[in-house]
Amino acid sequence: MKLDSYVDTGILVAQQLVNGLTPGFDRGKRMEEIDPAGVLAATLAVDPPSLAALKKRDEAGFVQLARQLRTVFGHLDRAEIDAAARRLNTLLGESPANPHLAKEDGVWRLHRHPADAALVPMWTSVCAEAIARMIGAQNAGRFGICVAANCDRVFVDTSKNASRRFCSLVCQNRTKVAAFRARKNGG
Ligand SMILES: [Zn+2]
Repeated sequence: MKLDSYVDTGILVAQQLVNGLTPGFDRGKRMEEIDPAGVLAATLAVDPPSLAALKKRDEAGFVQLARQLRTVFGHLDRAEIDAAARRLNTLLGESPANPHLAKEDGVWRLHRHPADAALVPMWTSVCAEAIARMIGAQNAGRFGICVAANCDRVFVDTSKNASRRFCSLVCQNRTKVAAFRARKNGG
């Protein structure tokens, strides 16, 4: 995978893996079942070579990675930055990146991983490093878990004032509606 847009991609994929592959509640509903093939097809579309290399046998590894990333999001949501950093360091140690120049159509480009790198270690490294870079840039507070009732999906807050609390507009709106109803019934 190329270095350009590395952080953005890693953050986006980490968020999508956690939200698609860890059980719990999604925007008001209990997630009945996990569909790794569908989630991975959608998530890895961001990197066509990864999508092309994806095999059925990779699914369990991605589900495991998603669980580990959820733990990191949970630590960061609770401002347990030391614990998040320890876990990220473990992931980075297990799946090191290997920056190197590779020639593509006569142009040298900086890559993080060999073209034939195994998918799960590669994405472990990409996601962990992207989150680690955010923490290193004092942006640990931008990772969160949705505060809406019956939702535990995660988000990365890219808003200007870092005030995001919900995974989606769906949760923001249904929380508003619930608060309105509660006020109406109470008064
Ligand atoms: Zn939500």
